[in-house]
Amino acid sequence: MARILITSAIPYINGIKHLGNLVGSQLPADLYARFQRGRGNEVMFLCATDEHGTPAELAAAKADKPVAEYCAEMHAVQAEIAKGFALSFDHFGRSSSPQNHALTQHFAGKLAEAGLIREVTEKQVYSNADGRFLPDRYIEGTCPNCGYERARGDQCEECTKQLDPTDLINPRSAVSGSTDLEVRETKHLYLCQSQLKDQLDAWIDSKKDWPVLTTSIAKKWLHDGDGLQDRGITRDLDWGVPVKKGDEDWPGMEGKVFYVWFDAPIEYIACAKEWADANGKTDADWERWWRTDKGAEDVKYVQFMGKDNVPFHTLSFPATILGSGEPWKLVDHLKSFNYLNYDGGQFSTSQGRGVFMDQALEILPADYWRWWLLSHAPESSDSEFTWENFQQSVNKDLADVLGNFVSRITKFCRSKFGEEVPAGGDYGPQEQALIEELSTRIRAYEGHMEAMEVRKSSQELRAIWVAGNEYLQSAAPWSVFKEDPERAAAQVRLGLNLIRLYAVLSAPFIPHATDTLMAALNSDDRSWPEDAAAALSALPAGHGFTVPDVLFAKITDEQREDWQARFSGTRS
Ligand SMILES: [Zn+2]
Repeated sequence: MARILITSAIPYINGIKHLGNLVGSQLPADLYARFQRGRGNEVMFLCATDEHGTPAELAAAKADKPVAEYCAEMHAVQAEIAKGFALSFDHFGRSSSPQNHALTQHFAGKLAEAGLIREVTEKQVYSNADGRFLPDRYIEGTCPNCGYERARGDQCEECTKQLDPTDLINPRSAVSGSTDLEVRETKHLYLCQSQLKDQLDAWIDSKKDWPVLTTSIAKKWLHDGDGLQDRGITRDLDWGVPVKKGDEDWPGMEGKVFYVWFDAPIEYIACAKEWADANGKTDADWERWWRTDKGAEDVKYVQFMGKDNVPFHTLSFPATILGSGEPWKLVDHLKSFNYLNYDGGQFSTSQGRGVFMDQALEILPADYWRWWLLSHAPESSDSEFTWENFQQSVNKDLADVLGNFVSRITKFCRSKFGEEVPAGGDYGPQEQALIEELSTRIRAYEGHMEAMEVRKSSQELRAIWVAGNEYLQSAAPWSVFKEDPERAAAQVRLGLNLIRLYAVLSAPFIPHATDTLMAALNSDDRSWPEDAAAALSALPAGHGFTVPDVLFAKITDEQREDWQARFSGTRS
């Protein structure tokens, strides 16, 4: 039995994610986790909310709530929606957890011991009225480039020029509007990534099976220009992990917190400890997933993320791990995605453009979305969501192919043989041909799933559904029954067994439909079909079943037009 550690890029806390976010990390990670569990492997699937940083503080201020309270509420909201989409995390943690605080401080201490942290004195804007330093987004003023009066300290939204807060003319606090600002010196810690350049380079060179796209992005960041730069890991904020060297105070760093980019990926590890603590497990139970000196040497670690996160996961987080000098698990496979666009434009959280996860579940059950999103995953290039395509894909694949097969075979059996698997007859050449085709296709499906080829997997699964439909069409038990009821009984027996086979194979994509089918078949045998012939006689003659309700309802033109109109604008 293989052991597989899976992490999905952790979603930021400030608001509900859109379908583009979902298909770029959490959903394909869930697909892979469900597949590996289905094969009987041991899986640890982790995700969390990313809760620190200025956007969380600003969103909390906008909601008029203390930031800790805001994050706790939004975590609960995101967890509930994740459940709605049947995302099967072993734990959905929080980067603000005490476990992540302790582990982040631990890593910083180890990096300092290794001589990989240096102190840098910088000039930053301090607000006397607010009694705090103002990070870039907290300062507004006039753009020196175009004269726009509401430019932010990091960028002018009007002319898009990147700015430094000290560039702004007539700067003021975005918190209080105060102009009583001054530039003060402040000290920050930098992670000496440049010293780890050769180690990272060698590690990336050892990844012969990574896609060229991934390694080339990493190599570019390592070598272009002056090469990999040292990076600040602390900020003058209240909300975050307090700067400490392990358990000890860090002289000169009082009142500062770690920068969110530093603590967020450490949550991948801390999340496993949260899982252990929440489930009455020991440290050994989670460390066997993460420490190669404590049992994780045979673990395969796979990360899922959008393409914009690749540099971070191939360089910055590995720099933290390698620099610590401790035997933490490094990523083995990294699956990244392009972007999903929405109806001729981009999904946008800030503009509220597109369909958001909560809205999606209000109009249709999760399986409809899971199927469309995964079968159109933006793998080799960006892909686009359109309502026409969504309607067509749901109606054809789910309703006409899978749903129709299930409906025809169960209803025909009920009308001619009653609600139990019929006895009599044997499988003939036609059935043997189907079994052979299915054997070949199931192995291909497994291969694509192992390789995390999401679209190819969905195409193969669909082909497996189609094979059953074509068999049923040509075998035509409704005609055969008149002449040879025994033969029809064998055909129907095969068809009912096919439904169980489909339920098991389809679970990674459409887990709710699987539950419905298994309940209708009165079976809890979810064993993976290693042998198609054996799998197709799992339900013996006399086994009772019920005809399930409509598995997938078709999307009508009226519904499509209605939703198209409803989601054409922006979310308030
Ligand atoms: Zn400007």
